[in-house]
Amino acid sequence: MLIVKKFGGSSVADKEHIYNVAKRCIEDYQKGNDVVVVLSAMGKTTDRLLEMAKDFNPNPSKREVDMLLATGEQTSTALMSMAMGALGVPSVSLNAFQITMHTSSRYGNARFKKIDTQRIRHELENRKIVIVTGFQGINKYDDLTTLGRGGSDTTAVALAAVLHADSCEIYTDVEGVYTADPRIVPNAKKIPEITYDEMLELATLGAKVLHNRSVEMAKKYGVQLVVRSSLNNAEGTIVKEETDMESMLVSGVAIDKNTARIAVFGVKDTPGIAFKIFDLLARKNINVDVILQSIGREGTKDISFTVARDDAEETVAILEEHKSRITAKRIEMNDTVAKVSVVGAGMQSNPGVASRMFEALYNAGINIRMIATSEIRITVLINEEDVEKAMRAVHDQFIED
Ligand code: ADP
Ligand code: ASP
Ligand code: MG
Repeated sequence: MLIVKKFGGSSVADKEHIYNVAKRCIEDYQKGNDVVVVLSAMGKTTDRLLEMAKDFNPNPSKREVDMLLATGEQTSTALMSMAMGALGVPSVSLNAFQITMHTSSRYGNARFKKIDTQRIRHELENRKIVIVTGFQGINKYDDLTTLGRGGSDTTAVALAAVLHADSCEIYTDVEGVYTADPRIVPNAKKIPEITYDEMLELATLGAKVLHNRSVEMAKKYGVQLVVRSSLNNAEGTIVKEETDMESMLVSGVAIDKNTARIAVFGVKDTPGIAFKIFDLLARKNINVDVILQSIGREGTKDISFTVARDDAEETVAILEEHKSRITAKRIEMNDTVAKVSVVGAGMQSNPGVASRMFEALYNAGINIRMIATSEIRITVLINEEDVEKAMRAVHDQFIED
């Protein structure tokens, strides 16, 4: 069997954790399997490197940021290989350059284009455990890129796909995917199996247990995932196309604080305004999420929407610059908001989920600022200070003990 095993930052935070991971990988290796290990940077290394970058330059070049961040994964993989060596097992660490893992050119948010398998295959044939840097790639300029925060999951799934791995295991600091973040909702339940579609919604809406693009890629290439703990042998969560269980009304609740609301007031109530606004943002690669347009009155209307918090300032700057073209009287930004979402394939055929969610928020005294829905999710925008209380209230409404 060829097994891809990915370990996140807290699973390789220090020497003890690295040795623990090394031993788990060696167990599989000694059963005769080919083992490819994908690692994140140790502990909070990536956060620390980002702070360091900001300290040197408040607005650092994205290329140099990626150059810096990529060192985090290079450290953890090299140390892992040393640990395995000390345990008497042959291994080799490889970075994106050595493999090569080709990505698009966008620094900080690159996407895989092509991954060469020759070097990995060669090392596996020599019976080495192959330890790969997560989160990074190489673009057409031969520069290092990174895949966006949490991107090591995507490295693991991409490798599992190109190597046709028999198993892709994501090890983390919780026992699997839960009905809500177990650190915020203590009575959250572990989900034994979840579909790609539900997991993709949860991940996109803020459940950072898996990088959303890793789920997208798993679905595309049919890579079945298992999410489990690096610290014990508890059964984790299987992520796959269809689950054997009857679909739950609500499979999970997610929150996302990485959001900001932009409001554009007093634009003309004529065709083309929404197009002009969102086209300006699309050209700058700014993703827009929840959108709300007021009913026109006296020939004008208001349009508000959410963007990622990191994009908020740039969004306001672009809109201010084109204020007259988009006929706006005033532009406001609020970055003390957050999203709460419920996800469940079962809600497609069950009316009333939205009203039950709103009831839970009402009972908790939480005001809703915006609402968005799709077939399998409902998202509300609320004040950031209420977000954890909201998550617990909504979770208790749908997922009983
Ligand atoms: P890693 O470093 O292993 O990649 P992450 O911190 O990226 O780990 O993701 C694991 C964390 O995701 C957990 O510690 C948990 O707090 C959080 N999380 C958020 N939503 C969920 C959920 N629905 N199920 C499990 N964990 C969740
Ligand atoms: N080290 C990177 C991060 O902290 C990638 C990852 O952990 O998946 O975002
Ligand atoms: Mg992660």
